[in-house]
Amino acid sequence: MTDFSAEQKRYLEGFATGVSAVRAVGGVPGAAPAAKAEPTGPDAIHIKAQDRVLTSGGKLNDQEKWKRAEHPFDAYRRLKADADAGKAPKPDDNFRWRYHGLFWVAPNQISYMCRLKIPNGILKHWQFAGVADLADAHGGGYCHVTTRANLQIREIAPEHAAPLLEGLVDIGLTAKGAGADNIRNITGSPTAGIDAQEILDTRPLARSWHFHILNDRSLFGLPRKFNVAFDGGGIVPVLEETNDIGFQAVRVRDGSGIEPGVWMRLVLGGISGHKDLARDTGIVCRPSECDAVADAILRVFIENGDRTNRNKARMKYVLDAWGFDKYLAAVEEKLGRKLDRVAPDFAEPRGPFDRFAHIGVHRQVQPGLNWIGVLLPVGRMTTDQMRALAEIACECGDGDIRLTVWQNFLFSGVPDAKVAEVEARVAALGLSTSATSMQAGLVACTGATGCRFAAAHTKEWALAIAEHVDARLKLEVPVNVHVTGCHNSCAQHYIGDIGLIGAKVPVGDDGDTVEGFDIVVGGGFADDPKIGRELWLGVKAEECPARVESILRAYLAGRSGPEESVAQ
Ligand code: SF4
Repeated sequence: MTDFSAEQKRYLEGFATGVSAVRAVGGVPGAAPAAKAEPTGPDAIHIKAQDRVLTSGGKLNDQEKWKRAEHPFDAYRRLKADADAGKAPKPDDNFRWRYHGLFWVAPNQISYMCRLKIPNGILKHWQFAGVADLADAHGGGYCHVTTRANLQIREIAPEHAAPLLEGLVDIGLTAKGAGADNIRNITGSPTAGIDAQEILDTRPLARSWHFHILNDRSLFGLPRKFNVAFDGGGIVPVLEETNDIGFQAVRVRDGSGIEPGVWMRLVLGGISGHKDLARDTGIVCRPSECDAVADAILRVFIENGDRTNRNKARMKYVLDAWGFDKYLAAVEEKLGRKLDRVAPDFAEPRGPFDRFAHIGVHRQVQPGLNWIGVLLPVGRMTTDQMRALAEIACECGDGDIRLTVWQNFLFSGVPDAKVAEVEARVAALGLSTSATSMQAGLVACTGATGCRFAAAHTKEWALAIAEHVDARLKLEVPVNVHVTGCHNSCAQHYIGDIGLIGAKVPVGDDGDTVEGFDIVVGGGFADDPKIGRELWLGVKAEECPARVESILRAYLAGRSGPEESVAQ
């Protein structure tokens, strides 16, 4: 048995996986090994982390090998040439395209989906109309609002891939880093700057962090995807507890040992699909420090996240293995200073949430102005609707379109005198500024129409459930039904009052299956965050509307009063 040195092992691993050893060891394949050179440049942090796996005898997962073989940003011209020629991408190039925001979604649709990056979910009316034009020119003529307050364009033929990405840049948008092992769209309170109860406007924070990561290549290509959210204390939940990093605005009282005023509380490790919500670290930082703190947290993750097993590669698993104290000590070491901490008693309680505030007309903190939430059934809009909505934002509001994690959007800055006009123009588009309890809390991922991981047509079944229940029950309390297609949990089924996750349900003895769902009950978020319990497995989809109705009837019969939520 030959004994290899660490250097030889690293070279052979690269050889076996088609990796250029040049970058890894600073030598030329086939040439006598050069003196060991430390990787340098923005990719060094990732290469060193991969090297540590290899020198310890571990095996990188496929995605790590692909990243190491050719950085996705260096592959753009090649990817573009292939796409221009109408070629479908191989798995490694499908992964690389995701760094640019494109996802090849065959076989469900023989095309790309593009997911954008829109910090705090807010874009200008002309950008919104511009996205609609791009979706017409290069996609399927519609868009979806996602559960990260983002937009997706679908049905993009290969030859339209690069023109679409380049068209986004033309209108001041980007999709860079929207997929693969990168930091996903930065979410923030959708009522930032217009909400009477907010403590802090999250827009500058989300924007600053968005550009911080966008312009630092070393922060692309993490062990796995990563989510960051900013909650400003407003009335609409932003679900920061489901993010790897959540910053929550808090007012710190006198006597805590730190200066009283507005601080950002740090919560870590949320990943609802793995049944974990972010936990309070006890740390607070100044709003101006969020970028530096998040940067240090990320670098600890980049250096120590699992690069062998994709299922264990999220930051949660480093936190689980190390505990919060060790992780935070490593963050402080990176920062070169201790972080501030505050006991919970010295943080003022957060203002209340309103689970209907993302729908309908609400007074802004600015006198005489309103925000108006528009219901988009499970996030879908046609491009014609988008252009007309952009016109309304321009002519009747402040020109902003504010996407929410509830798969809808708000107009902001609408004067009292224009409210009725907005409502009428929205209704004329076949949309609504009001919603039933079911409609307001209905969330669904892409599902089998466009996602190869889906076990069911989530959006279609979600709408069928809402229609069925609305025709039979009158609910005066908010109800969240989250319908997700697979364990990736894009619709966060574990935090819904009722969550459904796609399942193939066997029928008969010959191996046939039909679409169905496992059903989870009792999840919660915002002021009542909790993971729901799986109560039924493998319910046929056609039976789910009646099953959800029966769950809600049981709740109505058993509750002590309207103030008791479904999750209780
Ligand atoms: Fe696709 Fe699964 Fe995400 Fe739904 S949850 S969009 S099925 S990956």
